[in-house]
Amino acid sequence: MPRLENDLSTLGTAAQAYLGKPHVPHIDGGRHETAASYELTDPTSGQVFASVGIASANDVDAAVKSARAALGGTWGRMRPNERELALLRLADLLERNGDEISEIETVCSGRLLGHTKGVDIGYGAHVLRYMAGWATKLEGTTARLSIPYISDGELAGFTYREPIGVVGAIVPWNVALCIAIWKMAPALAAGCTVVLKPAPQTPLSALRFAELALEAGFPAGVINVVTGNGPETGIALVRHPDVNMITFTGSTAIGRQIALETAGSFKRCSLELGGKSPLILFEDSPLDRAIPAAAWAIFGNHGQNCCAGSRLYVHRSIYDQVLAGVVEIAEGIAVGSPLDPGSMMGPVVTRAQQTRIQGLIAKGQAEGARLVTGGTPIDGPGSYVPPTVLADVRPDMTPVREEIFGPVLVAASFDTEAEVIALANDSEYGLGASVWTNDLGRVHHMTRQLEAGSIWINVHNALDVAMPFGGWKNSGVGADLGETAVLAHTKVKSAVHHFP
Ligand code: ADP
Repeated sequence: MPRLENDLSTLGTAAQAYLGKPHVPHIDGGRHETAASYELTDPTSGQVFASVGIASANDVDAAVKSARAALGGTWGRMRPNERELALLRLADLLERNGDEISEIETVCSGRLLGHTKGVDIGYGAHVLRYMAGWATKLEGTTARLSIPYISDGELAGFTYREPIGVVGAIVPWNVALCIAIWKMAPALAAGCTVVLKPAPQTPLSALRFAELALEAGFPAGVINVVTGNGPETGIALVRHPDVNMITFTGSTAIGRQIALETAGSFKRCSLELGGKSPLILFEDSPLDRAIPAAAWAIFGNHGQNCCAGSRLYVHRSIYDQVLAGVVEIAEGIAVGSPLDPGSMMGPVVTRAQQTRIQGLIAKGQAEGARLVTGGTPIDGPGSYVPPTVLADVRPDMTPVREEIFGPVLVAASFDTEAEVIALANDSEYGLGASVWTNDLGRVHHMTRQLEAGSIWINVHNALDVAMPFGGWKNSGVGADLGETAVLAHTKVKSAVHHFP
């Protein structure tokens, strides 16, 4: 059995040295002292391990001023391929410092070391490299024009893609650095500058990343990191009049608040919000892959994924078999310290989140869901929740409707395609959905009928960097990744030339 509490002495010397420092926002290429600070606690033990400055509205203003100045400075004058090369160097530096940064991220978040290495470092570098390529590929159009009230000479038209300007990026803790990179990389490729507000639980990887960006050749002010909470630091960034775009990943409630706050200012807004993504297993599902996928779609990263497969719908003919398979996997998951290589699942991010998840499990049981496995909190100072399955759920039950953001699967059976489409779409969310079948006609029909921004066939949570990722309904507005995300950080300018 893995140990429950982190042993911080197993960290590499670089991570230990970094964690030991007092942390403050990174503004205009350097440390920016703040009047107030808060403490970070280790989710496996509740122990304080670092302090971090809280950026006030004035500190956020300093960051935005620096980002604005950088737009008009060296960065704004750089050629596209220089931006590309800077992003490529940053990807290399991220990988070179990957052990240190993934350890930092793991201690802050409680996520498994293998996950922070694979996702925040591996996938993060992959996104930086993909987006680097876009810097040189932002093209406009040309046309011969015909304006009725200009009758003489020739008219030529050109369109340009200009950077939208200063981008405020606000991100959550669940895949903290990777999501921050999702937000920053397209902005930087497009020539924007960034003020990033990481989640209060996971600010350190972003601060370290900003230092690496300087090393990679990004001028001071291109990437600023304002640490702090939502109601003070986050809202100051959202309200700042000189921020041109807010790109946010987080809860639907805060996304709605940001949409309301920015409505009158005409800031562009891209919001990637909550999810309650269904996995749908038809009777011809490839069960050897579908059963482990169903388990890991919800237990991977301890269920703390916006597109976690949190609702499982299984054709009645295979329901018992699938449920038994998922439960067997759940019961074989070793829960423990995310630094321990033997752990398959770590704690959830905070004690508050643990309490909330336990409350939702209890509510589901009170509403009539059948607890098949898990459910009982793991004693001790760590915020552990065991892999939990609630079966035979009805659509009106609270854990079916609410995003739990923890390792809790709800499962139900269905008889017909029409029935499962109705069940899957009966949600305020529309982020992702996966369908498991070998019937091509059904694949096409389900892809058209499901109300979600990403549809996966015989796979779940397959996020390719070239494919836009964004939610429908209350799961958001706009999309991360792909060309879509790069273009979202540009504004169009048209130019007309008259040759009399
Ligand atoms: P989660 O439930 O995953 O913590 P939140 O939506 O609460 O998601 O937070 C996501 C990010 O939004 C965090 O960086 C948080 O500090 C920030 N945030 C929270 N409240 C606000 C707010 N009112 N304005 C701007 N940012 C906020």
